[in-house]
Amino acid sequence: MSKYHPLTEKEAIQIARTIPDFFAAEGELASREIGDGNLNLVFHVSQPSSGRSLIVKQALPYAKVVGESWPLTLDRARIESEALLIQDRLAHGLVPKIYHTDNELALTIMEDLSSHVIMRQGLMEGGVYPKFADDISDFLAKTLFFTSDLGMNQQEKKLLVRSFANPELCKITEDLIFDHPYTNADTNSFDPHLQEDVDQLWSDTALHLEVAILREKFLTHAQALLHGDLHTGSIFITPESTKVIDPEFAYFGPMGFDIGAVLANLLLHFAAQEHWSADEATRQTRRQYLIQTIRDIWESFERKFRTLWNEQGVDRVANAPGYQEDYVQRLLRDTIGFTGAKMVRRIVGLAHVADIDRIPDPAVRAKAQRIVLAIGTKLIKSNRNATSIEQLIDIAEAAS
Ligand code: ADP
Ligand code: MG
Ligand code: MG
Ligand code: MG
Repeated sequence: MSKYHPLTEKEAIQIARTIPDFFAAEGELASREIGDGNLNLVFHVSQPSSGRSLIVKQALPYAKVVGESWPLTLDRARIESEALLIQDRLAHGLVPKIYHTDNELALTIMEDLSSHVIMRQGLMEGGVYPKFADDISDFLAKTLFFTSDLGMNQQEKKLLVRSFANPELCKITEDLIFDHPYTNADTNSFDPHLQEDVDQLWSDTALHLEVAILREKFLTHAQALLHGDLHTGSIFITPESTKVIDPEFAYFGPMGFDIGAVLANLLLHFAAQEHWSADEATRQTRRQYLIQTIRDIWESFERKFRTLWNEQGVDRVANAPGYQEDYVQRLLRDTIGFTGAKMVRRIVGLAHVADIDRIPDPAVRAKAQRIVLAIGTKLIKSNRNATSIEQLIDIAEAAS
């Protein structure tokens, strides 16, 4: 079975059987493919008699979007499993346990997180996650700090940057986030009632300048090992627990891109509250909860990142007076800019989010989409002057 081919459900059982001391020797295994099948297969393999289960995730050699199919490197499975192992070491407990990896078969065998829900779904169902800000700020501070030149040996980092070159998946981000939404590209997809708003986006040269600067950072700034796709669909959650999955887009890039991904997805959900909250009182509470979560994430991240720097920094030159201030300020600005970019693409670009697209009433959906565009473009335009997370919050609150 060692040569690459997409596994059948039966083969997923055979390979799951090889994990030592996992399943009981006696007792049948059941296997079910539960992925959405666009890029990867995800098999849920379980043993009813022992109550044990695990996940086999395997990369497919192509990506499929609305009937179109293009080749996509299997090396992303190696990147995903290596990123998960690093994240587990640096932010233990915040990613699934890894039981086995196989680069030839492009697969990772990992902990079954079916006891959790995908956060995007959980939020749409009105879920409240009191531990999330603490957990995700921990994940961000630790994974970003310890893979940066502040927290790891700078020569070793250069080698790691090379092994996380992820050109094909980065190209997807470069095109779908930083290029296509701002021009009349074939891949774009948006509700026709937004044509005027989109024309505005396409002709806004001041916005295009800021997007070009953000894109340059994404292309060139190998600051830390990013997750690379940290939206609420890549987070499994319960009120007590947070687990980050799916780092196949991992590469060395600007830290603000990961932080911004989290904030953007909270704001996408925020913008859709006219639909997801049943009445005005619930809406107010829900919006406040989301805003407070955003504030807590940034503030906790900043505090934890500074503490790591002060207590575990490896770079003497980084102690230069004023450098940490300047660095954290630039992180905030990048975060705000990337938050905006990650919002706009979900309205105009190829891949949308359920928080917005599942609003059945076209008028309510259009309002939510315009709120997202208003917040997103303002964040992009203001990012280089920002000095506080309250500026992001003011922009979000003014638009809703
Ligand atoms: P893709 O890269 O194709 O988006 P994901 O890693 O996001 O793949 O997984 C797709 C889906 O498979 C998830 O949304 C979830 O429903 C399921 N899944 C993935 N990993 C696990 C896991 N460790 N435990 C339970 N379900 C999982
Ligand atoms: Mg998917
Ligand atoms: Mg995914
Ligand atoms: Mg993925």
